[in-house]
Amino acid sequence: MNLELESLGDAEGALAVFDPATGSEIGRATTYSEDDVSSIITLADAAGQEWAQRTAKDRAAILSKWFALTKQHTEELARLVTAESGKPMAESRGEVAYGASFIEWFAEEGKRAYGETVPTFAAGKRVMTIKQPVGTCAAITPWNFPVAMITRKVAPALAAGCAIVVKPAEATPFSALALERLAHEAGVPRELFRVVPTTDPAELGTLFCTHPRIRKLSFTGSTAVGKTLMRQTSDNVLRLSLELGGNAPFIVFDDADLDAAVEGAMASKYRNAGQTCVCANRILVQDGVHDAFVEKLKTRVEALKIGAGCEEGTTLGPLINSAGRDKVARLVDQALSAGAKPVTGATTSDAGEGFYEATILTGVTSDMAIASEEIFGPVAPVIRFSTEDEAIRIANDTPYGLAAYFYARDVGRVFRVMEGLEYGMVAANDGILSTEVAPFGGIKQSGMGREGSSHGLDEYLELKYCLVGGI
Ligand code: ADP
Repeated sequence: MNLELESLGDAEGALAVFDPATGSEIGRATTYSEDDVSSIITLADAAGQEWAQRTAKDRAAILSKWFALTKQHTEELARLVTAESGKPMAESRGEVAYGASFIEWFAEEGKRAYGETVPTFAAGKRVMTIKQPVGTCAAITPWNFPVAMITRKVAPALAAGCAIVVKPAEATPFSALALERLAHEAGVPRELFRVVPTTDPAELGTLFCTHPRIRKLSFTGSTAVGKTLMRQTSDNVLRLSLELGGNAPFIVFDDADLDAAVEGAMASKYRNAGQTCVCANRILVQDGVHDAFVEKLKTRVEALKIGAGCEEGTTLGPLINSAGRDKVARLVDQALSAGAKPVTGATTSDAGEGFYEATILTGVTSDMAIASEEIFGPVAPVIRFSTEDEAIRIANDTPYGLAAYFYARDVGRVFRVMEGLEYGMVAANDGILSTEVAPFGGIKQSGMGREGSSHGLDEYLELKYCLVGGI
């Protein structure tokens, strides 16, 4: 199976893809017009009718093969992820393993889409529920996890018996095209799952929302685009899953295990150069441990090795492009002029075009833009607080509600804070919570619906109530 970039790309393709570490073009992808995609959706819908008739076990066998091929081609996939997203190779390999885990999980879970027999409300009548595929789906995915954001949607759709058409992010079409190739090789019918790169995301977004054959849209990306799609899907009353932006608090209480908290902060903040929607966006530290925590964090942050993702030993790669870097620089500069203090970094890096130094700021306050906007960069803004109530109030003071983290040892506090944080996902004494076994998703303006776990399968199933009378 050839997954080399040259074989996935097309020198004549309209979509140019760039290496974030150098800014140079690495290849071009073929794009699809509105008319092309309209026909692709119609064909997908027909393939979906046949696919839905197969047994869950047959579908699972094909998904398992896709999982095995994905694992087998980890190295080639990881190279593509690093080439187009810039993340260090070790993280890319981790992403491929994480992405593949959804295929394995949903291959199994698809076999357990159980309905119910409900105790009846009247003699002579029987009440049941069955779960059926929602129908043909469309997905729009971001560039920060070019493999996992595809598998997290496509695997449950296919396992549930649906067809799916995916528009990958403009920056990262090749990982998606490689996954599509592996899926077809594994036996997923060609028309059933298609990847359709474009240079005009708004055009295909509108088509997905209005095409009469699409029954469901799953989107991961910014809150602004999510809101547009929500409006557009209302005409056809599409089923909708939205994984949008976050503003994750990472709270360190006086009773925390400080070394563990520093480890957690490193993983939560600097992974993928801070470009994940569950990245710690605000580090809240209680008075009693503030200085000690910042000192320990500084030592670890200054040991990060900045460089191109493909270089051995790199632990901090570039941002996706110079616009991403400029946004980070703007937020840091605004915070500094409003009184924040640089502990380390706080400047663009001479490592190359899209690089920004790993940064810690102290003296950050909630009214600064850096505390309310998603940074999407390797910057830890530290906010100091005194009491537990104050920490919860600051943490919840945002329209977002995706992930939250905190470190504390007092068991009463662990429960109080876990319950008090208005977030879809809360981790106590851990800095990473993404896994295929648990429901990933947000509340408030961070979105709706869950991915992964058994709940992730339900997003692609309709629950039908069946009444049998005359018994
Ligand atoms: P990010 O800041 O992560 O790039 P976006 O929300 O802009 O977030 O992008 C996430 C995905 O949404 C990408 O695949 C992008 O092409 C797509 N996208 C951007 N604008 C629109 C739009 N108007 N309609 C549909 N999809 C869009």
